[in-house]
Amino acid sequence: MPAVLRIALPVPLPTLFDYLPPATGEAGVGSRVLVPFGRGKRVGVVVAIEAAAAVEGGRLKQVTRLLDDEPLLDAELMQTLAWAADYWLGAPGEAYANALPLALREAKPLPPIGDEYWSTTASGRSAHDTGNRRGGSKALLALLATGALSAQELTERLPGWREAARRLAAAGLLERSERPPADHRPPASPAPQLNEEQQQAVATVGASLGSFQPFLLDGVTGSGKTEVYLALIEQVLAQGKQALLLVPEIGLAPQTVRRLRQRLGVLIEVLHSNLSEGDRARAWLRARAGTARVILGTRSAIFTPLPQAGLIIVDEEHDGSYKQQDGFRYHARDLAVVRARALGVPVLLGSGTPSLESLANAEAGRYRTLHLRARPGAIRPPQVQIIDMRAQRLEHGMSPALLAAVADTVARGEQALVFRNRRGYAPVLLCHACGWHADCPRCERPLTLHAGRRQLICHHCDYRQRLPAACPTCGAGDLKPQGQGTERLEEALVTLFPQAPVLRVDRETTRRRDAFEQLLETLADDQPAILVGTQMLAKGHDLPNLTLVAIVGVDEGLHSIDFRAGERLAQLVVQVAGRAGRASKPGRVVLQTHQPAHPLLRSLLAQGYAAAARELLAERRLIQLPPYSHQVLLRAESVRREDVDGFLAAARAALPQDDSLQIAGPMPAPMPLRAGRHRAQLLLEAASRRSLHGMLRSWQLALARLPLARKLRWSLDVDPIDLY
Ligand code: ADP
Ligand code: ZN
Ligand code: ZN
Repeated sequence: MPAVLRIALPVPLPTLFDYLPPATGEAGVGSRVLVPFGRGKRVGVVVAIEAAAAVEGGRLKQVTRLLDDEPLLDAELMQTLAWAADYWLGAPGEAYANALPLALREAKPLPPIGDEYWSTTASGRSAHDTGNRRGGSKALLALLATGALSAQELTERLPGWREAARRLAAAGLLERSERPPADHRPPASPAPQLNEEQQQAVATVGASLGSFQPFLLDGVTGSGKTEVYLALIEQVLAQGKQALLLVPEIGLAPQTVRRLRQRLGVLIEVLHSNLSEGDRARAWLRARAGTARVILGTRSAIFTPLPQAGLIIVDEEHDGSYKQQDGFRYHARDLAVVRARALGVPVLLGSGTPSLESLANAEAGRYRTLHLRARPGAIRPPQVQIIDMRAQRLEHGMSPALLAAVADTVARGEQALVFRNRRGYAPVLLCHACGWHADCPRCERPLTLHAGRRQLICHHCDYRQRLPAACPTCGAGDLKPQGQGTERLEEALVTLFPQAPVLRVDRETTRRRDAFEQLLETLADDQPAILVGTQMLAKGHDLPNLTLVAIVGVDEGLHSIDFRAGERLAQLVVQVAGRAGRASKPGRVVLQTHQPAHPLLRSLLAQGYAAAARELLAERRLIQLPPYSHQVLLRAESVRREDVDGFLAAARAALPQDDSLQIAGPMPAPMPLRAGRHRAQLLLEAASRRSLHGMLRSWQLALARLPLARKLRWSLDVDPIDLY
């Protein structure tokens, strides 16, 4: 007879809560329950069933109601979530809250997971026969006279049918039902004949289906990774299993979904943060029921139930969007490996620019590496050239050589991408008379000039102000934009190349959800064009007529204090360069810099990403930085500077004496002020993950008890990917 249910509740406290079992029903591990908490009620998940309460003496409250007769979360997911909460120092309830779609965190019955169908009842049929209805009702009865139709078909054939359906259903003439989602099976487009490397990759991973093994699929954009994924997913489907494919946020273009759907000929369940809550819950439940066979999603899709798991794939595994940067700070790529182990399936990490973490894992023999070196779609790899821009006469930041390359490309009727990873018109607005420049009052960093909106905007906190007509300090009217953003490059290129359309692609021009897609459609044909864009353009879209990538500036990345800046820069340059010459036309990449002799740029351009990554890894090993050491970052921020300092000093004092632990700080964050809050941090580092993790939980609890802990925002970040 179980005495106590141990329950995870969605509150940011690092504990579980004990309750007495409900009056009726048998709660199992993984079931949701409604419990009294504080003055209200909460939905929690049963994590364990214990014989006795963790804390003696207290009077336990009783579970109000059992919500699931069958556990909603299976044993594997429960185990993985417990591991994840422990590893990333999440509150257990927060981990469950991340795993469950919002609609499933409410005390409501599970939504039906089939498609919605409507049909006539017996009295509906006679009503149709006698013809005693008018207007929409009559039309709807006529449509359904030959059989049931799905809501989707009804919307296509009789817009506004729902009003009539409501009336007729109330009169008992129609009824609504749920059917398993229809498998539309459009004619599957045939797979290309895989080349030797692709076949080898498919054979190797295919041979380990059914057991855990991580693979790193190393191949640049256009090398045919997606074809390898597709061939493997086909094998998994043939075995009656499920495949989960994770993509970074910018990778989830409708183009990708269409390609999968057409090739696999099955329904692709898509899970991402833009879905409505109802759709998200239904997709999650269909995966749980096993009716969803192929699940495609961004970061949080790693929590999808996979009762018949066959394979997990993480595309562009180096992408930073796999790390959640607030609340429960998990890393979906790392969690994918953990889940694959628990599920006993292979996990395939694909990238043209693998993270140094994955390369180190491959080097240590934990991952097996598969290479795709040939690019099936391209004749040869793009030719890369460094432009030394020192002492050049620049036209809005662009050198004569760069502009000449653009001119050549357009003259040949081809497309050029001018790449600059900065939105807006100019990153600084300067008074030429007195030296004043526009700063964000809340961050003390320069405001970016957005000329089209006549605004100055802070890219750190979104503070906005109107563009001043004159210098607020000296009154001079001579305000000069310094540096270039995409908006300014667009303006300059429009003037310089009146013969070709200039299209800007950044967050500003693609705010509308389908705007980006539409822009890309217009580029699909063989017309000349100039694209100006940020990293939104780095990945995921096939632009067959794009033959030149001109990189305007990367020098900021060469000076950054973040030890990952070099790795990021190399990844970005290679990803962007990969956009050139995908189809039958050879591609060309020009990169202009004030530091043509920088060793990272040299090795990257002369020998490629693998060589640059090897050098970066050697450097990290030498100075004992991740992945050769392990970090945990304590961040604190408050409008009161002394609270931040006091909290971090106390946090440091609360650390155990341990020689294996290196402590840096308290020190100001790289951005010491943001949105009016003072920010500082304490960085812990250790060679052994185990010794670091051993003390973290008790330290976290000690931190929560510090008097200042309630007065400011603080968080612990395990394996932080940036120090901001
Ligand atoms: P990646 O995912 O590595 O960027 P893709 O799988 O998208 O590469 O392949 C790039 C292009 O080359 C696509 O248009 C794809 O259809 C084509 N492709 C891939 N493999 C082959 C092959 N073996 N033969 C012919 N075309 C191929
Ligand atoms: Zn001035
Ligand atoms: Zn700001």
